[in-house]
Amino acid sequence: MLTALLIQQGLFALLWVVLGALRMARRSAWHWALGVTAVTGGLSLIVLRDVTPRWLGFWLSCVLLYGGFVLLWRGTEIFARKKPADRAHAIGFVLYCVLLAWATWQGPAWTFVSVGSAPLGYVLWRTAWTVQSRLRDEFGAPVSVGCAMPFWLIGLVLVLRGTLAPFVPQLTGTSVHSAGAGNLGTALVFVGCGLVINLGLVALVTSRMLRRLQRASDHDGLTGLLNRRGIHARLLQESRRLARHGAAYSVLSIDIDHFKRINDQHGHPAGDAVLQALGRTLVEAGRDVDLAARAGGEEFWILLPGTTADGARRAADRLLQAVRDMRVQVAGADRPLTLTVSIGIVTADRPNDLLEAVMQRLDAALYRAKQAGRDRIEAAQGVAASNAPQRAVTT
Ligand code: GH3
Ligand code: MG
Ligand code: MG
Repeated sequence: MLTALLIQQGLFALLWVVLGALRMARRSAWHWALGVTAVTGGLSLIVLRDVTPRWLGFWLSCVLLYGGFVLLWRGTEIFARKKPADRAHAIGFVLYCVLLAWATWQGPAWTFVSVGSAPLGYVLWRTAWTVQSRLRDEFGAPVSVGCAMPFWLIGLVLVLRGTLAPFVPQLTGTSVHSAGAGNLGTALVFVGCGLVINLGLVALVTSRMLRRLQRASDHDGLTGLLNRRGIHARLLQESRRLARHGAAYSVLSIDIDHFKRINDQHGHPAGDAVLQALGRTLVEAGRDVDLAARAGGEEFWILLPGTTADGARRAADRLLQAVRDMRVQVAGADRPLTLTVSIGIVTADRPNDLLEAVMQRLDAALYRAKQAGRDRIEAAQGVAASNAPQRAVTT
C-alpha cells in the first residue's frame, strides 16, 4: 500500500515539475513539486525503516514529511496570493527537528508518534484553512471547501494519531509501515487524500489558467476594457433583445481627434498613456450598465442598453465634455496633454434593425463628425450616408 502511495506521489511530483516548466502557476508548482518529492522521500524512508539506521528511518523520514507539508502550505499561500508566513515556517521547522530528535532518542516510545504526527496534522490544517478562506472569492465556496477537505482529513488522522499515542500502546508498538488494520486504514486515507489533493490543485491551476485565457480573448490588454470581440458578443445580445422584446439600445463610437500627432510629437508610450486615460474617463463618465470597449486603435465603443436617442445624446454630450476636461501628464511633455474626440451615435429601436446595418450607420455618423470639423457629435440618420465608407463589422 505504501509502495502504491510512493509511486502515486512520485508521478504527481513529476506532473508539478512539468506544470511549473510550462509556467502554469510557476512558483506554486515548483513548491508543490518539491513538497511532494520531500513527502515521497519521507515515505520511502519509512518503508525502509527495518533496514536503515534510526536517524534515517525515524528522524529524517518525519523531517522530510514535515518539510514537504510546509512546502505544500507555502505553495498554496503563493497560489492564493497571500504573503508566505516565512518566519513561522522556519521556527516551526527548527522546533520540529529538535523536538523530534529528543523524541527519537530520549523520550518514551509514544513521544515519537505524538511529536512525529501531530505537528504534521497541524501544518495540513493550516493549509486547508488557507485553501478554504483565501480561494473562496476566486473559485466559490463549494470548490474551495472541496479542495480543502482532503487536507482537513489527513490532518485529522495525524492529529488523532499524535494525541492518542500516549493512551493507545498499539500506535506506539508498531510502525506505520507494518501490517495492521489501523495502519492499513491510515495508509488508505493517505492514498485517497493524496490523490484528491493533487487532482484538486491541478483543477484549481487549470481553472485559473482558463479564466485568464478567456479574459485575454475578449479584453484589451492596454486599457483593460472589452475588445471588439468582447463587445460584439454583448451587441448581439442587445440586438436579439430588441428583436424579441423591442428593447431599444444605443451605441456611441468615440474616436480621438488627430491622435497620430500625439504619437508623432510625444512618442508611442505617450499615445498609450492617453488611450489608458481615455479608457478610464469613458468608464467613469458612464453609468454602471454601460459597456465601454476599445474597438481598435484609438476608437472606442460604448454600448448603452435600454437607451433611446435622447438618452444617448445626453451621454455623448457628457462624454465630449469629460474628454475636453481631461489632462494627461506624459513623460517628456512640459504640460499635461489635452485632447478632443469625435463621437458618432446610433440608436436601434426597430425590431428589424440588424446589427450589421446599425454599426454601419454608426460608422457613417462618426465619419460625418470628423468631416464636420471634429470635437463634435453626430447622430446616425435612418440610412447610412452615401458618402461614408461601408465598413463591415468584423470580430
Ligand atoms: P482623426 O482625427 O482623423 O481620427 O486622425 P487620427 O490621427 O486620430 O487617426 P489616424 O487613423 O490617422 O491615426 C490613428 C493612429 O493611432 C495611428 C496609429 O499609429 C495609432 N495607434 C493605433 N493603435 C495604437 C496604440 O495601441 N498605441 C498608440 N500609441 N498608438 C496607436
Ligand atoms: Mg482618430
Ligand atoms: Mg480612428
